[in-house]
Amino acid sequence: MAKHVVTMIPGEGTGPEICEAVRMVIDASGVDIKWEYEDIGLDCLEKHGTLLPDKTIQSIAKNKVALKGPTTTPIGTGHKSANVTLRKVFDLYANVRPVRLIPALKRPWDKLDIINFRENTEDSYAAIEHMVSDEVAQCLKVITWPGSYRIADFALKWARDNGRKKVYCVHKANIMKMTDGLFLEAFRAAAKKYPDIETGDIIVDNCSMQLVRNPGQFDCLVLPNLYGDILTDLCAGLMGGLGFAPGANVGDNCAIFEAVHGSAPKYAGQKKVNPSAVLISGVMMLRWLNEKEAADRIEKAMYRVLDEGKRVTYDVGGTAKTDEYAQAIIDKMHAGLK
Ligand code: NAD
Repeated sequence: MAKHVVTMIPGEGTGPEICEAVRMVIDASGVDIKWEYEDIGLDCLEKHGTLLPDKTIQSIAKNKVALKGPTTTPIGTGHKSANVTLRKVFDLYANVRPVRLIPALKRPWDKLDIINFRENTEDSYAAIEHMVSDEVAQCLKVITWPGSYRIADFALKWARDNGRKKVYCVHKANIMKMTDGLFLEAFRAAAKKYPDIETGDIIVDNCSMQLVRNPGQFDCLVLPNLYGDILTDLCAGLMGGLGFAPGANVGDNCAIFEAVHGSAPKYAGQKKVNPSAVLISGVMMLRWLNEKEAADRIEKAMYRVLDEGKRVTYDVGGTAKTDEYAQAIIDKMHAGLK
């Protein structure tokens, strides 16, 4: 019997080719994982009549851990995002999105090492929307004290457990006095339990400007859902692109690891895109599974391949295909990182 059983959801667009490359690298690290492949998304709707089949839900519920590729969500009309549904079904309330400098990606910052904690279940993402008339649409922004308190507490605890020093709450409570006001109040209440962590708050528009001007000043940020979605893409840009931004959706009972980026459908089938973001999400998953050595080995090999710059994907100036870049990382691991 394998040591770990992980639900693998390749997703759509470029998702399957990325996930295949990532599986190759993780398997080559020697960690003993049995992968259970499951479907999700629009292709799945055609095959099974639903975006999120029961079989996929049951597999995640049983294994309590999944690695997921991106899915495609049509803009405007159509179906509710399978991602948002998945986060709700498993109450994955914490979306952890770290960004840090990758040496091979030449960036103008001296320091970039931020962990974003995005609240993942509430806010205007609760999808409570309706047409008031033909010309007026309304969306409800729902923020609760328990929802806000638990993401604040999660972030503060994570910060303490991982030796981080500073956690700031991002909000717009000067204008949205009740909703964002409650989010901030809950953060301040949770912060009282962590006197060893420096805490504070910053208004989301100022935070956006400060991130671009001097990202090195930030350590950990706690954000409501919508601001978190937007600012973590901004942070991915600071890092050097969506191809490198990983993430985890964490609840009290299970965790689903996935990149920040989407399915990049225009590149689907070309084996062109960078699998690093899903691979780093996989590395986060290995640490979650207590497979720290394998995680470190993969990460070091990936950095080494990027430093050499010979077998890398188009977005970092190379010509390697998705699987060729994965093979380069495997070769580096097998060569003992020489
Ligand atoms: P996207 O992230 O898929 O792509 C935007 C652009 O970023 C791409 O055209 C490409 O130039 C670049 N890019 C993205 N991933 C890359 C990678 N791995 N390597 C190199 N370059 C990469 O965003 P989009 O085009 O706005 O969305 C496409 C679909 O993905 C939409 O249906 C959207 O709803 C969905 N989406 C899904 C998730 C998810 O499943 N978690 C997240 C975001 C968007």
